[in-house]
Amino acid sequence: MDCLFCKIVNKEIPADVIYEDDKIIAFKDINPKADIHILVIPKKHIVSINHLKEEDKTLIGDLILVIKKIAKDKNLKGYKIIINVGREGGQIVDHLHLHLLGKLL
Ligand code: AMP
Ligand code: ZN
Repeated sequence: MDCLFCKIVNKEIPADVIYEDDKIIAFKDINPKADIHILVIPKKHIVSINHLKEEDKTLIGDLILVIKKIAKDKNLKGYKIIINVGREGGQIVDHLHLHLLGKLL
């Protein structure tokens, strides 16, 4: 499958990985739009929020909990979570990802 983020999951292309477990990987955005800009993605290929299935319920919770952990590790007092859905929603990479955007104080 020709998916950029699957290639990062499979270590076929490099990324600045800051968290990884059996289901999730998080890495720095290559073109950061904030002091801290991290992408948190499921290792499983899911195109977008619109492609989530009932069985992905806990995965979505786990992705949010990873964001909470990273934010704590980075000492972020506040942050934004952005999920772009579909071209009209600003989604460019068709592998579900949560943007963690924060400012270093
Ligand atoms: P979106 O517009 O929500 O699909 O966001 C895609 C994000 O992926 C953008 O913020 C890009 O800067 C980022 N991106 C694209 N290629 C890479 C890459 N090879 N490594 C890390 N981030 C990337
Ligand atoms: Zn993928």
